[in-house]
Amino acid sequence: MESVGGSFRVARVFGIDIEINLSWLLILVFITWTLADGVFPDQYDGWSTWAYWVVGAISAVLLFVTVLIHELAHALVAKRRGLPVPKITLFIFGGVSHLGRQPRTAGEEFAVAAAGPATSFVIAGVCAGVAVALLNGNEKVQAVFAYLASINVLLGVFNLIPGFPLDGGRVLRSIAWNRTHSFRRATRLAAGVGELIAYALMVGGLFFLLGGFVWNGVWFLFIGWFLLGAAKAESQQLQLDTILGRLRARNVMHDAFVTVPPGISVQEVVDDYMVANGERAVVVANDGSVAGILTVSDVQRVPREQWPQTPAQRVMTPREKVVTVGSETPALDVLHLLGERRLNQLPVLEGGRMVGLITRRELLDRVQLAERLAPEKDAGDETPPTPPPAEPHGQDGRDGA
Ligand SMILES: [Zn+2]
Repeated sequence: MESVGGSFRVARVFGIDIEINLSWLLILVFITWTLADGVFPDQYDGWSTWAYWVVGAISAVLLFVTVLIHELAHALVAKRRGLPVPKITLFIFGGVSHLGRQPRTAGEEFAVAAAGPATSFVIAGVCAGVAVALLNGNEKVQAVFAYLASINVLLGVFNLIPGFPLDGGRVLRSIAWNRTHSFRRATRLAAGVGELIAYALMVGGLFFLLGGFVWNGVWFLFIGWFLLGAAKAESQQLQLDTILGRLRARNVMHDAFVTVPPGISVQEVVDDYMVANGERAVVVANDGSVAGILTVSDVQRVPREQWPQTPAQRVMTPREKVVTVGSETPALDVLHLLGERRLNQLPVLEGGRMVGLITRRELLDRVQLAERLAPEKDAGDETPPTPPPAEPHGQDGRDGA
């Protein structure tokens, strides 16, 4: 799972980084405002304005704490079962626990997914108990616990909506996975149900809008749109996992890369290799040792009239700045790296020696071809494909190119 943009780390609990997204701070202010200006004044008379705001802010912060406990429940169950959990991000819809990999069994996925909503319901029960016990006590403290009880019931119910990436989507997938013994079929089913629910929410939102309930309408449309995107992303990720899951860098590279001497002019490289053979990158090497890589984007930075006098080595990306991967790096990691660094190609190293080149275009062509050839292939997929993690080699030149 990718991290959400604009997040900062606030704490580390049980070896898990806790991050807060900026969108959560907006929501915190928004919730404080709705509580101080609407909910509490409607329910409790006679407080000072100051009291409404303080109780509103305390309730909003405690809501934040209960969402964090919900996420920690997911994370701790995952960790107990040996799933790595590097971090938790709190953002506009609550939280995301980033799992280091997909669960291995239906039971594992069910336990991790169900732990969150179950915890929210337990928190709701405890807070309701405290609120009842305080009925004749301090009204403001009682108001906070009553609010936390009702909001945690809502949180539990909302998260049980069976659509990705909500917990309910994962609970549904784990049940389908247990029944069908196929991770792929279960994911397709859960993503399909998620899409249906997303459309239903959006249609509901339209009805609200037509009926004049603008806020409800906008909110339903927004959640529907968000769930639709998440369901589609989950299907696409599954497709990529299935196609690339078992492949390594050495399976998707081509070893017939072109090598040119450092002194060759940019004009010659363009004429003889790029235009003539469609190479998007050539390796610049001197006596077998790689000096760098010259790509189409490097060439484009040089004014055309200077191409004949400019030697390749002056405009190439030098070896210490070239991002490389090892030949055993999983193909999925290569694809992510290409996307993250906005690269069009990556040299593949083996024991410090360059053995091949992977281009983004070839990798994507391969994915498309595999999709066309085996769109419904379902055999041998009892477990989700999980390539063992392999660190891409850094671009600091430790591995040489
Ligand atoms: Zn959850």
